[in-house]
Parts: sequence; structure tokens; C-alpha cells
Amino acid sequence: MPGAPDDGLASVCRVRGLTWGPPRLGPVRYERRVAFHAMVTLWGGLPAQEPWTILLDTNGNLIEWHRVAGVPEVRSRDGLYQIAEDLEPRSVRASGAAARASAWSDWWRAREREWERAVGRLRDDELGRLSSFFAARVEEEEERSRHRTPSEGADIQEGDVTSLKLEWERRAQEVRQRWALRTEVRLWGLEEWAWPLADLEQELRAGAVHLRLTSAVDVARGRPAVPLCPTCGTPADMLVRARGSVACVNCGPQ
Ligand SMILES: [Zn+2]
Repeated sequence: MPGAPDDGLASVCRVRGLTWGPPRLGPVRYERRVAFHAMVTLWGGLPAQEPWTILLDTNGNLIEWHRVAGVPEVRSRDGLYQIAEDLEPRSVRASGAAARASAWSDWWRAREREWERAVGRLRDDELGRLSSFFAARVEEEEERSRHRTPSEGADIQEGDVTSLKLEWERRAQEVRQRWALRTEVRLWGLEEWAWPLADLEQELRAGAVHLRLTSAVDVARGRPAVPLCPTCGTPADMLVRARGSVACVNCGPQ
């Protein structure tokens, strides 16, 4: 079968107490998709740069997001092609605006959180070293002042501890600033694709139970989408027999 694995949905969804019938692939249709190419720089501590590729439909809905340059795993021989004509400016503006307004910000916030966790540990290590250094100095200073006579001037000793604490705070602030996160996103390219898709139908069987499932196949990659659970409607990578019906592991018997 062109564009889908021979075992159809069995390649993405395991079953227990059920068997898959033969898959039937419908006609290939083409869907317009827009790929946004961006270079993302994460500043703070150890700056990093990474290319992003974000694939949207023409309404600006997210289809895929990858932290690499270009759309991965595409087998161009399967009919995928890039649309050479100029993009209609309005549709690009609309999808770009939609992308920025909604999903874009979510993705890079998620990425920032991940980044913050990674560099946060290094920042906290540095702050920890600074704290133990200054805490020891303050303690020394306080110890020394206890051994001084009042005539040597309690004010001066008090002042030494205070300036140590101020210096400590100033240095800690510097460390926090140096590790502060800032994300810069530079959009540098747009591509429009005609993406081949097809519907795949396949029956699940167990005794008298015959249930037909459908799923969209990404023909460019030869990969069907995970089917939805017939009982609860969530994507399921495993289906089981459940009291004369079919369920996933989340809603069915454990
Ligand atoms: Zn379910």
C-alpha cells in the first residue's frame, strides 16, 4: 500500500484480546501547510541558539513544532511538494499573527521553563558558593568584634558587618542578572507546502465485535495518526476488549 505501512493502524496501536482487519487507504488529498523558520536565541548564563520549524495550517493552527531547521522525516518522493508561487500575503499575515498570538508564545514559554531549569541549577550553585563565602566572612567579623574592647569602637565593627552584607547582596544581584533569561526569536523564512494526506479505515475484531476505526495518514511520512479510543475519544496507542466493547488503557479495565 503506498503511503501507509502494510499493517496500517497496527503499526501505531497495539491491541489485546482483539485483532486488526486489513487496512483500507482512501484517496490522497493535499492540504496547504505553512512552515515558519525561526532562529531562537536563549540569553542568560550560557547563551544557546537553536533553529525552530513550526508547521501550521492556513488558519494558523499548529500541526507540528520541531527544534531543528526544516521539517524532519519527510519522504519527498511520496508526492509532497513545495508550492513555488508567491504566498498570498493576507493568508501569511493571518497565520503568522495567529501563530504569534496563541501557540507560539506557549511553545517558547515552555522552552524557557525547560531552559530555566537547566541553567537555574548552575545559577543556584553560584549563588550557593557566594553565600557560603560571605556567611563565613560575616561570622569571622562578628567573632572578631566579640574579642574587641568597647573602646575600640563598636560602631566601626557594626559598620564592617553591614558593608559585608551589602557587598554580599550586590554580588548576588549581579549573579542573578547574569543568569537572567531573555529569549529572542528571529523569523527568517516561510515555506508553503501541499501536504499529502489520506484516510485509513481498519476494522477491529473480537468475536461478534466489529468496530471500524478511521485515522488520517501523513502520506509524506507514511505514518498513520494514532486512532481515537472508541469509548472515551482520546488518542490511544493501545486498545483492549472491554465488556462487548473496545476501550483504551485509560478508560478500560486495567
Ligand atoms: Zn478510552
